[in-house]
Amino acid sequence: MIHFVGAGPGAADLITVRGADLLKKADLVIYAGSLVNPALLHYCKEDCEIHNSASMTMEEVIALMKAGEDAGKTCVRLHTGDPSLYGAHREQMDELDKLGISYDVVPGVSSFSGAAAALCAEYTLPQISQSLIITRMEGRTAVPEGEKLARMASHGCSMVLFLSAGLLEAVREELIAGAYEPDTPAAIVYKATWPDEAVYRCTVGTLAQTAKDKGVNKTALILVGDFLSGPVERSKLYDPAFTHEFRTASE
Ligand code: SAH
Repeated sequence: MIHFVGAGPGAADLITVRGADLLKKADLVIYAGSLVNPALLHYCKEDCEIHNSASMTMEEVIALMKAGEDAGKTCVRLHTGDPSLYGAHREQMDELDKLGISYDVVPGVSSFSGAAAALCAEYTLPQISQSLIITRMEGRTAVPEGEKLARMASHGCSMVLFLSAGLLEAVREELIAGAYEPDTPAAIVYKATWPDEAVYRCTVGTLAQTAKDKGVNKTALILVGDFLSGPVERSKLYDPAFTHEFRTASE
C-alpha cells in the first residue's frame, strides 16, 4: 500500500494529523523536494529510507515504490500542498494500477488556502464574488482551449493563479482582456506559511513590476479580485434579522 500524502503548503505543522502519523510509521518516504519543506522529514523514524524525487523521473519513483512494496515496507509519497492540484500523482496511480499495487490519498492544506491565510482574506464574499477560479497561465504546459486565461478572467470573480509567477506580463494582458480593470486588487504571495513567507499587495496593472522589484519569479501564487479590497458588507449568516437552521431571527 502506497500512501500519497499532502504535505501542506510549507509550515511543518500544517500537515494533517493523519499525514504526520503516516510519516512517523513510514519505512520509505519519497518527497517532492522542490516544494516540500524538509522540516517535515523530522516526523520520520531514524531508520526511514528517504528519497528526494526532485531530480527523478516517474519511472524511477515507481521503481522505488515497487521495491518498497515488494519488501513489505510502509511507503509514503509526500506531495506539496494538496496532491489533487497540479500534483502529478494521478499518473503515478495509473502506473501503480498496472502493477497491481494499492494506494490511498491523504489530503493536504493547499497553498491557495495558505495564501488566503497570509492575507487574512476570504475568497467568497457576498456581493463581491461567490466563486473561486483556480488556474494557471499557459506556459510550457498547455492549457485546454476553453480555459485560456482571458476566458477564465471574463468572470471577474476571485482567482488564484498557480505556476504563473514568471509570466506576469502575459498574465496582466490576459486578465485585462477578461473582466478585470488594471486597478483591480491583486497580491503575490511568496512561500505562503514558510518561515520566509512574503506578501506583496498590488493591482492587476502592477503585478509584473511588483514581482520584478521584489525578485519573485517562482514559488508564489497570484491572487486577483475585489475580495482583496477594503471592508465588506456583512453576510446574512450572523445577521440578527436572518433566520436559518440553527438560529431564529430576533425581532
Ligand atoms: N499541490 C500544490 C501545488 C503544486 S504546483 C498545492 O496544493 O499547493 C506548484 C505551484 O504551487 C508553485 O509553482 C506555486 O505557484 C504554488 N505553491 C506551492 N506552494 C506554495 C507556497 N507555499 N506559497 C506560494 N505558492 C506555492
